[in-house]
Amino acid sequence: MSEAMLEFRDVSFTYPGDNKPTIDKLSFSLNKGEFVCLIGPSGCGKSTIFRLVNKLLKPDSGHIYVNGRDINEQKSYCGYMPQSDLLFPWRSVATNVRLPLEIRGGMSDAEMNDKINEALENVGLGGLGNKSPSELSGGMRQRAAFARTLMTGCELLLLDEPFSALDYLTRLNMREWLSEQWEHENKTILFITHDVEEAVFLSGRVLAADNYPISSLTAVPIPAEYPRTRATLEEAHMVEIREQLIEKLRKEHS
Ligand code: ADP
Ligand code: MG
Repeated sequence: MSEAMLEFRDVSFTYPGDNKPTIDKLSFSLNKGEFVCLIGPSGCGKSTIFRLVNKLLKPDSGHIYVNGRDINEQKSYCGYMPQSDLLFPWRSVATNVRLPLEIRGGMSDAEMNDKINEALENVGLGGLGNKSPSELSGGMRQRAAFARTLMTGCELLLLDEPFSALDYLTRLNMREWLSEQWEHENKTILFITHDVEEAVFLSGRVLAADNYPISSLTAVPIPAEYPRTRATLEEAHMVEIREQLIEKLRKEHS
C-alpha cells in the first residue's frame, strides 16, 4: 500500500429519503502527517464525509481505508472532534479528557492522571483540570476538547469546524495554536471549515468541495513554510490562492 493515511475509493452515500446522493463515487486520499482542510459551503456534505469515516454512517458503495486497511476491519482508528465541543457538563475538565483513556482501558489511575496532567499542560490548561467546562472560555473549552481527541492515541484526527463558534480574535489565536500543536505532534489532520482564510492558514493542502453532490475534491497545495503568521497570509501568492478558492466556491454555490 501507499503512504496514504486515509483513502476514499468510489464512496457513495445518499441519506434515506433523499432522491439524490450527498456523496457520489468520491475518491481522495490523505498522506501521513498532512494537515489538510476540507472546505465547502454549509450543507454541501463536509460533515457527512466525517460521519462516513467514523462509521456513524455507512457508505452505500465504495470503500474507506485508514492506514491501508478497510475501516470495517478496525476499531479506534481516528479521533473525532465534533462541530461543537461536546464536553460533558457534569464531568470536570480532567475527567472529560480522561474519557478516551477509560474507553481504551489497561491504564492505572496514576498513569491516567499523569497523562491527563501532561495533556492539559500542553494545551495551556495546566492546573485547570478540576474546573467544570462551564467555567472555561470558548477557546479553553476547544483546547480541552482537542486534548481529549489526542487522548484517543490515534494518528488520524478529524476536526469539524472546531473554531466556528469562537469570536474572531480567539479564532486567530486558536489557529496559530493548532498549527503549533500539529508541528510537534505526529498526527495527520483533516480539518473542516467554511472559512477560506482559516483553510489557507492551516493547510499544506486544501481540498475544496466545489461540486454537488460531492463527486471529487479539488486539491490546492498551499506553498508556505510553517510556522505561519498573519503576514504569511498577506503574501501576494497566498492572497491569490485565497481569492481563487473563494471564486471557485462562490461559482459553484450560486
Ligand atoms: P456540511 O457539514 O457541509 O454543512 P452536512 O454533511 O452536515 O453538510 O450535510 C449535507 C447535506 O445533507 C445537507 O444538505 C443536509 O441537509 C443533509 N443532511 C444532513 N444530515 C441529514 C440527515 N440525517 N438526513 C437527511 N439529510 C441530511
Ligand atoms: Mg458540518
